[in-house]
Amino acid sequence: MKTRVGIGYDSHRFAEGDAVILAGVRVAAPFRLVGHSDGDAIAHALTDAILGGAGIGDIGEMFPDSDPANKGRDSIEMLRLAVLRVRKAGWAAVQADVSVICERPKIGPHREEMRATIAQALGVDASAVMVKGKTNEKLGWIGKEKGLAVIAVATLEAL
Ligand code: MG
Repeated sequence: MKTRVGIGYDSHRFAEGDAVILAGVRVAAPFRLVGHSDGDAIAHALTDAILGGAGIGDIGEMFPDSDPANKGRDSIEMLRLAVLRVRKAGWAAVQADVSVICERPKIGPHREEMRATIAQALGVDASAVMVKGKTNEKLGWIGKEKGLAVIAVATLEAL
C-alpha cells in the first residue's frame, strides 16, 4: 500500500473577543483569533497537511485571502473541500495528529468534540485523530498570549 505523510503549521494572533474557533469548536476565551476566515488554526494546519501529503499545493493557493468568498469562512468547510481535492488526486487521509501550542484556552476539555469534528471532515473514525494542547512555558509571543500556533501531521493512503 502506498502511504504518504503531510505536515502543516499555522498561527493566528489574538484580538479582543470572547471565544476562539478551533477544529470547528467554539471555545470561550478572553480573546478571538484574527484571520481572513474564522481563524481556525487547527483546520488550517490540517488542510495544509493533507494537501502537502498529496503533493497538491497549500491552503493559500486553494483559498486565497484575496477572494471575498473566503472572508469569515467556516474553515471546517474548507477542510472538507480539501479532502475532496485530495481524493480526486488519488489519496485519502487515514490518520491525523495535532498539537496546539498556547497558554490559553485549555484544549483538554474540548478534545473529544474536536476529534469528532475533524474525524467527520476527514471521513475517518475519531480513534484515528488526536488533538493535544501544549503550553509554551510562558516563553515568547505564545507565552505572552499574543496568539497561538498549531502543528498537524496527516497520513495518507493511496485509493
Ligand atoms: Mg490560518
